[in-house]
Amino acid sequence: MQAVASPELSPALREFLARPSHQLLIGGKRLDAASAKTFETMDPATGRVLARVAEADAADVERAVAAARQALSGPWSRLSPAERERLLHRLADLVEREAESLAQLECLDCGKTIREAKNGDLPLAAALLRYFAGWPTKIHGETIPVSVPYYPGASFLHYTTREPVGVIGAIIPWNFPLLMAVERLAPALACGNALVLKPAEQTPLSALRLGELCLEAGLPEGVVNVVPGFGPTAGAALAGHPDVDKLTFTGSTEVGREIVKASAGNLKRLSLELGGKAPNIVFADADVEAAAKGLFMGAFYNQGQCCSAGSRVLVERPLFESLTAALVERAKTVRQGPGLNPKTQMGPLVSRQQKERVLGYIEGGVKEGARLLAGGEALAGEGYFVKPTVFSEAKDSMRICREEIFGPVVVVMPFDSQEEAVSRANATDYGLVAGVWTGDVKRAHRMARALKAGTVWVNCYHFVDAAAPWGGFKRSGYGREKSQYAIDLYTQLKSVWVDLN
Ligand code: ADP
Repeated sequence: MQAVASPELSPALREFLARPSHQLLIGGKRLDAASAKTFETMDPATGRVLARVAEADAADVERAVAAARQALSGPWSRLSPAERERLLHRLADLVEREAESLAQLECLDCGKTIREAKNGDLPLAAALLRYFAGWPTKIHGETIPVSVPYYPGASFLHYTTREPVGVIGAIIPWNFPLLMAVERLAPALACGNALVLKPAEQTPLSALRLGELCLEAGLPEGVVNVVPGFGPTAGAALAGHPDVDKLTFTGSTEVGREIVKASAGNLKRLSLELGGKAPNIVFADADVEAAAKGLFMGAFYNQGQCCSAGSRVLVERPLFESLTAALVERAKTVRQGPGLNPKTQMGPLVSRQQKERVLGYIEGGVKEGARLLAGGEALAGEGYFVKPTVFSEAKDSMRICREEIFGPVVVVMPFDSQEEAVSRANATDYGLVAGVWTGDVKRAHRMARALKAGTVWVNCYHFVDAAAPWGGFKRSGYGREKSQYAIDLYTQLKSVWVDLN
């Protein structure tokens, strides 16, 4: 537990990590699991145990859902929209106050770099809370002029209201643990729901800390419950629970399918943000320097552990050699190390299992005949590091071109026409994001129109904002998180008729 003793950690974080066990948060109380089981979460930079966490299973999910249900008829339901706004701003204040220790916690628990945690995850988390803090006072219905053909001349008042959906289950992955938690919690609370959050088993800590901050902000007990545990136990119990009204899930497409099946019992509402295999396309008229940076960042941000990673790079032939060389040069010189070290540019993968999985894909790519230009192996020494890996001479049919690897592996391929780029870019089961680099404004918009993806980035990559909708086409899922469209996910519409005759 070297990292825990590390003097550079903020005092608040040292105190948090020093707890003998990290308990579940249910009904405003920190509790052991009913089974009394715990599990270990690791520091992926060292492979050593970072903390012990109570392991929720079905019995704890039962308690958490009951607490959330009860909170919906307590003081929470009587708060005015302006009071909900104030609470969300207060939570944002606390996240900003704790930004240093939360950023460090993310580095330790999931391996991201302190630079990315401080400049990306934390400011975005606060921004999401503030964006959704603005919504409670703006969620309203409409009056609709209605006609009733079998009652000529009759007069009615018809209006709609938007009500909370109820108990929201949120199952989230390990790549942006705090951000994903906030992305679900902020709109759910803005709309007046109560939440049961199941963080990924690899990264349970920041969600638990967030739950504590919710209580400190003044959210009533039971409005936010946090139940760390494993997918097939805690996750499946939440997905199948008959008293969960809506489930929001981010994770793999395979587990997404399980979630759909498990949710069928009570027909709970679903929003799914699943995998990706994004094309990042460079035309010969692009700004080469910007594109080179964008391709690298697109593929390797967060060690490539992003559903939006630009893992299929398509370069128009005249630029193919020079851009491939630029990508390889960056891949070979990037500084890898523990995320907490401010000099580190790329951290470890989240777990041993993920490291093995990624190395398996690399081995498969070599076996299928792709050419390895950089990386291709783990870093020697402790921790779950894999060198950033660049393949060329790959065929679209190879697994490294079709399947989501969720690690630092990119394939670079040349193309000769816009039509070819579009058809190859779209030849995937996924459709989360796509990137286009071009100096031709007409081409940019033509491409944006042609690409089948929920987000298209032109001359930029990996940009997100609380106000911009986020979600996928095809097997990348359905529903749009963030933005005004999240309000539709976390409210239900009521239609009221009043006879005025
Ligand atoms: P990844 O491959 O990125 O780990 P997963 O889809 O396996 O993504 O996991 C994302 C989240 O889904 C995690 O919180 C995990 O515990 C949860 N999960 C995994 N399997 C199931 C399941 N069968 N039912 C519900 N949740 C699950």
